[in-house]
Amino acid sequence: PISITDPIEEHRICVCVRKRPLNKQELLKKECDVITVPSKCVLLVHEPKLKVDLTKYLETQAFRFDFSFDDSSSNEMVYRFTARPLVQTIFEGGKATCFAYGQTGSGKTHTMGGDFSGRAQNASKGIYAFASQDVFLLLSQPRYRNQDLEVYVTFFEIYNGKVFDLLNKKAKLRVLEDGKQQVQVVGLQERQVGCAEDVIRMIEMGSACRTSGQTFANASSSRSHACFQIILRRRGKMLGKFSLVDLAGNERGADTSSADRQTRMEGAEINKSLLALKECIRALGQNKSHTPFRESKLTQVLRDSFIGTNSRTCMIAMISPGMSSCEYTLNTLRYADRVK
Ligand code: ADP
Ligand code: MG
Repeated sequence: PISITDPIEEHRICVCVRKRPLNKQELLKKECDVITVPSKCVLLVHEPKLKVDLTKYLETQAFRFDFSFDDSSSNEMVYRFTARPLVQTIFEGGKATCFAYGQTGSGKTHTMGGDFSGRAQNASKGIYAFASQDVFLLLSQPRYRNQDLEVYVTFFEIYNGKVFDLLNKKAKLRVLEDGKQQVQVVGLQERQVGCAEDVIRMIEMGSACRTSGQTFANASSSRSHACFQIILRRRGKMLGKFSLVDLAGNERGADTSSADRQTRMEGAEINKSLLALKECIRALGQNKSHTPFRESKLTQVLRDSFIGTNSRTCMIAMISPGMSSCEYTLNTLRYADRVK
């Protein structure tokens, strides 16, 4: 449980990496685990190199992050060091964002949405739910109890530059920017929630909407960004907002040379949005006056979270441990390395 006296880390940007365990298929194929986490901030990749004599040897590359989580860490543990320190921010009128970045199958949805490996989703064990629980816990403290604060959630998906409402049957939504550069997602459903159980129902509803009843023949969750937001309001006026984003698989950005036109366009769009995201986070970290949020729908929709003095962000780079994922893993780590 969060305590309002918990020390809040000062820095605005936190970049972490999480390694998932080898899965059944990887174990069956006797795949080699190329990742080690020797200490809480360091991560090593034992990259296979093919020599002229065709003998494989490993070259080790080291990366340093704010936190590195090995395959024994739980979602709760990851939450404690990533999103949790940002919860307080929204009670102070700030904007917080947390991104799950990585290749498809690396654990983004598992970390954010909870465990789907059973018959039904266990949404109570993901970062969306943990963050919501802590919002309600803070709300019950004397300091905030009688302040007319209300909690709302939204859940939407950005697919190929278009926004769809996951809490309203995937209704397609328009994004408008007014003369004052305020960005609005027109018609996005904000559902009021009174307790953590309410939120879990919304997460499950939205997640089911995301993965089933796809409107497009080849659409899959790996090609879309899912954004879950917790919004705090006082007498109708927004006080703070926490956006938790399960990003599209970063390997999809490489689909730009695919023979299929649709796939190619989606790949280009994903590429563009992930590059724009990196630049926006960097701009936030360096207090730059210019934030290139217009480069993609994702960054446009999150615009107000990249500006302002009380905006904080956290990126969790997810990696698969297997040798066969090595190239993607290195891409993920290089991206995460450059965010800060
Ligand atoms: P992504 O959303 O990045 O494509 P998923 O979250 O769907 O990946 O994870 C792929 C599979 O791996 C799922 O079956 C998930 O339950 C499992 N998985 C991911 N991370 C972990 C983990 N840390 N521990 C156990 N299983 C995991
Ligand atoms: Mg996923």
